[in-house]
Amino acid sequence: MFSAIVIDKTDDQQSVSLQQVDEAQLPEGDVTIDVDYSTLNYKDGLAITGKSPIARKFPMVPGIDLVGTVRDSSHADWKAGDRVVLNGWGVGEGHWGGLSQVARLKGEWLVPLPAAFSGKQAMAIGTAGYTAALCVDALVAAGVTPDQGEVLVTGATGGVGSVAVALLKKAGFTVVGSTGKASEHAYLTQLGADEIIDRATLSERGKPLQRERWAGVVDSVGSTTLANACAATKYGGAVAACGLAGGADFPATVMPFILRGVRLLGVDSVMAPKGPRMAAWARLARDLDPALLDVIAHEIGLGEAIAAAADLIDGKVRGRVLVDVNR
Ligand code: NDP
Repeated sequence: MFSAIVIDKTDDQQSVSLQQVDEAQLPEGDVTIDVDYSTLNYKDGLAITGKSPIARKFPMVPGIDLVGTVRDSSHADWKAGDRVVLNGWGVGEGHWGGLSQVARLKGEWLVPLPAAFSGKQAMAIGTAGYTAALCVDALVAAGVTPDQGEVLVTGATGGVGSVAVALLKKAGFTVVGSTGKASEHAYLTQLGADEIIDRATLSERGKPLQRERWAGVVDSVGSTTLANACAATKYGGAVAACGLAGGADFPATVMPFILRGVRLLGVDSVMAPKGPRMAAWARLARDLDPALLDVIAHEIGLGEAIAAAADLIDGKVRGRVLVDVNR
């Protein structure tokens, strides 16, 4: 038996609880992992609170991230004792996930734990941090360079935003963080923000074309925030869009794209192929100061994850939530 968060659904009513689960119930897969840490991402918050239909079958163990040690494997790439990381691939949505002491997964979904990080640090980064790295990679590949001017990070105190601020600063950019948390300016400055703006300045519908300010943008908010970010992006600049914390709509015009050549770069972490995944983790290993992870992440036990998920969706959480599944 092992402990896991289990989401169940009967007659359209979702229930979530910490349960003891029999190993015979583990799903199919060629690698069994003793999990050390998982995390809470926005998507886990949506799944646990039931605010969006993230879990696609029931019962479901949520958790789109995990780090642990291979217990047994019939996959050619992995053997008992290997330290592995899992981010995405629909785990925690359609396949039992990481908020559990044991997981059984497909070997092709796993990457080796980067040598630069402990398991705990890799989960302090988690999907949110790895997505931030994908966003920075996308901007850099689009030709955005520090000499072109300021870059904007929206949802700056969130998981994606926090890591994006730190990575962009390290890459030499002048970073402007947009946040709704007036109390967290010192936090953002510590991560590397050069200037902080109130997210309210981006949340009202604005003009189709605004003063050209941003050379690049990492947006985890969507909706009017993304529309305004595009409208204020400089000629030839790029906007990496990865999130919907402010809404899934996109009330924009094509003007920034057709008159200023602004590029809108969609970023997905879930099905990202192994190449970009490894590149993103390599950027994190090279550019993210591990000491900052102690500032960005706070740790909770498995039993606290249900309450913390509600706080995350209510926007009350700063940075990343690390879950020790063995306490
Ligand atoms: P967090 O909850 O940690 O951060 C989201 C941040 O967005 C909050 O901290 C807050 O920052 C801001 N925010 C919250 N609500 C609103 C609102 N109504 N209007 C404007 N800003 C708001 O989530 P994550 O960082 O884990 O994820 C951020 C987004 O990115 C989510 O939508 C998530 O689904 C998405 N995502 C997408 C991935 C992909 O593969 N494309 C992978 C990972 C995440 P502040 O208080 O500083 O304003």
